[in-house]
Amino acid sequence: MDPGENVQSVEFSEIGPVSFVRKRMARNIRISIKPGKGVWVTLPLFLPLATAARFVEEKRDWIIRHRLRIENRHADRTFFDENLNFQTLDHKLVIDRHQAKTIKTIIRNGEIRVTIPDFAKTEDERVQHAVRKAVLIGWRMEAERYLPEWLKTLSDLHALPFASVSVRNNKTRWGSCSRDNRISLNLHLIRLPRHLSEYVLLHELCHTVHKNHQQAFWNRLNEMTGGNAKKLDKELDHYSPEVF
Ligand SMILES: [Zn+2]
Repeated sequence: MDPGENVQSVEFSEIGPVSFVRKRMARNIRISIKPGKGVWVTLPLFLPLATAARFVEEKRDWIIRHRLRIENRHADRTFFDENLNFQTLDHKLVIDRHQAKTIKTIIRNGEIRVTIPDFAKTEDERVQHAVRKAVLIGWRMEAERYLPEWLKTLSDLHALPFASVSVRNNKTRWGSCSRDNRISLNLHLIRLPRHLSEYVLLHELCHTVHKNHQQAFWNRLNEMTGGNAKKLDKELDHYSPEVF
């Protein structure tokens, strides 16, 4: 969203400035919060500003909570630069420079190489974005290579067959198991401590038999994790697929 004639900024107590932008296609009032860019509200073309402002007032607590979460996440992200020693399972990240104006990514021979322009600053959001994207491709390759096979091994070991497995980039869930036992695994499992990614795989396998989180589910999962199911589940809360 670019500031323009359509944007009006209004100051709210406890929230600070909120930018209102009218959109021809907007059907409802929508609030979005982006790190470093503040609070934006899109509203339909002819909706009175007062109505949108009232909506913001009503959502004040949510906005404050949500913004804090987003900014914490943003602050927890890795800052990538030439001096950072960053390693995925099979790849080492290398950031180097060339005289062209483009950002180039090559992944091969155990290396994720991101080549940025001579003049570029690593703190530039475009550079950070390109590196994150490259790392993500590396993780996806590794996830697709290892996770399905690992799931199969555990499935055989515990005699819990599943119908199929897919690897996805999900923002919130580490894994899921459908009604008909199709298991989906988050590619970000590949960067978790091994005991936690294993826990998620076992958790989803357990759902092939127990479709909810009632006691029978936890009993079975405890048998598979040496009685540590709940503890592992809590430990997993310290990680988010979005934060890396
Ligand atoms: Zn579950």
